[in-house]
Amino acid sequence: MKKILVTGGAGFLGSHLCERLLNEGNEVVCLDNFFTGSKKNVVHLLDNPYFELVRHDVTMPYFIEVDQIYNLACPASPVHYQYNPIKTIKTSVMGAINMLGLAKRIKARILQASTSEVYGDPNVHPQVESYWGNVNPWGPRSCYDEGKRSAETLFMDYHLQNKVDIKVIRIFNTYGPRMHPNDGRVVSNFIVQALQGKDITIYGDGLQTRSFQYVDDLVEAMMRMMNSRDGFTGPVNVGNPNEFTMLELAEKVIQLTGTSSKIVYLPPSQDDPTRRQPDITLAKKELDWEPVVQLEQGLIKTIEYFRGIV
Ligand code: NAD
Ligand code: UDP
Repeated sequence: MKKILVTGGAGFLGSHLCERLLNEGNEVVCLDNFFTGSKKNVVHLLDNPYFELVRHDVTMPYFIEVDQIYNLACPASPVHYQYNPIKTIKTSVMGAINMLGLAKRIKARILQASTSEVYGDPNVHPQVESYWGNVNPWGPRSCYDEGKRSAETLFMDYHLQNKVDIKVIRIFNTYGPRMHPNDGRVVSNFIVQALQGKDITIYGDGLQTRSFQYVDDLVEAMMRMMNSRDGFTGPVNVGNPNEFTMLELAEKVIQLTGTSSKIVYLPPSQDDPTRRQPDITLAKKELDWEPVVQLEQGLIKTIEYFRGIV
């Protein structure tokens, strides 16, 4: 049994991770400021004596003795991270400094939830870890993209300078139950719109692409990365390489929900990446991992979840 700290543990991904870590016999401390996460996401875990929920903001130092730290605290949806951009970049940068400082002091292994957004609007396709990216440093997405890039720099510098045992994964678009119904991300938006019989909103021409990964596949990869061989730091891409246009996604959601909703086209979001697809050769080699849940199967489970709450 390990004692594990999960920052952002009451969010969409964090709550799935906490659940899985507990199921595997670990003790979990879930730290969250409840900005985009909620107690509801972890309420089913509160009776477990090996689960502890702490309200705390990662921009402030935090002290605890644990074996491993998963650093997930940061709003992930463009609507949420653009609500208070200064707070978003502070969360990534100061959160990384505080958690790396803690890891250094207690000699814990620490994993950073980085993102495919470090590639920006990529000129290399599919994206490989060696690609440095194409990011606007002062656009509406910068607080998130540059915050996460700085966090990667901090992770690598703490590793090189202070020998902190780091692991960095770059997560590609992930969806599944417990996404916030109003968080503005495309999968939750389309499903909620379809279930409510509202127009399905495509931003731009709908030909931009994303590669969608189901949450269970991600959690598996995250844990494999945390427990990967000594000295393997990453960064490593974690995503499902099957690539879809937003128009294809909208059509799939319409078909699977049987809705009478119509597609409408709205202006494109500023600096919206035109395409995104992970090259997962490294994850396959180092983690012996590849995603097993394909889009239709994952959407069916996610639609089922949203039917229960909207
Ligand atoms: P989420 O918004 O549901 O979860 C983020 C959690 O962090 C929430 O519970 C929120 O309350 C908490 N949080 C935010 N700021 C905090 C702060 N200052 N102090 C303490 N807690 C704070 O988003 P998610 O989709 O679960 O994403 C989790 C992590 O994974 C994020 O770091 C995100 O950048 C990363 N990620 C997610 C995706 C994805 O597709 N879901 C893709 C790439 C990277
Ligand atoms: N998008 C869309 N309609 C929506 C929400 C998003 O067409 O209602 C598009 C968005 O412009 C982007 C893609 O879907 O091209 C993915 O957006 P999301 O916010 O889910 O993730 P990210 O842009 O961070 O990859």
